[in-house]
Amino acid sequence: MRVSLQDAVKRVGQKEARANGQGTEFKNVPFFKLEDKQTATIKFLFDDPSAIPVVRTHMIQMYSKKGTPYYTEVSCIADSDSCPFCEAKKADINNEDNTLSFAHDRMVLPLVVLERGGKKELSYELFIRPISFYTGVISPYSARFSLIDPIEITRNGTKANTTYSMFPAMNADEFKMDKTLEELKADLNFDETDVIGRYDSLIKTWTAEQMDFYLNTKQNPTKANMLAKKEEAPQQVTRRSNHHGF
Ligand SMILES: [Zn+2]
Repeated sequence: MRVSLQDAVKRVGQKEARANGQGTEFKNVPFFKLEDKQTATIKFLFDDPSAIPVVRTHMIQMYSKKGTPYYTEVSCIADSDSCPFCEAKKADINNEDNTLSFAHDRMVLPLVVLERGGKKELSYELFIRPISFYTGVISPYSARFSLIDPIEITRNGTKANTTYSMFPAMNADEFKMDKTLEELKADLNFDETDVIGRYDSLIKTWTAEQMDFYLNTKQNPTKANMLAKKEEAPQQVTRRSNHHGF
């Protein structure tokens, strides 16, 4: 069929944006986070802890275009390949590089925020916690209360000293829904791959080459960034050797 040149150009632009991890068609489910001493009422999108996705990741630091540091979790690929991030940490004997963490296990808890800061919401978010959150909070809570009912969650402390505590919501009746968990998940457009598996998932899955690019440049290894770097200084983007012999 005949199409307008304008439409064709627009489609090419959208396709490139998709390939580069940009554009507006992406689904980025936000991180759930609270400020110190802040409380929210939430509802988990699972009724059994065995349904919580657990992933092995490295946390890395990058900078936004404005220069603000931010953190991203990247899937450790040590199970299928030698993982450049694990190798970099092994080589960093004094642990001086704090822009990259050792591989750690993380739970990603899908939830819906019902109320935060006194305001009613219905926002689907993903809560990333270490496994100690399961042993210290989820497991004892689920032994006493139902995980599917509204829960009041409070943050205490900052950075490494952050803890979250959970109690059954006092005003649970205010949040009564006539929906099953499956119906609610469908309404929120929940998908398993929001956590990991797509390239716009919360946990990034990078190839060894992309990890190397990050180690060399500390930049996000989008196709556009990698291509720009290759054109600018091809000799600087070399695959790091797997061998550390001298
Ligand atoms: Zn790794």
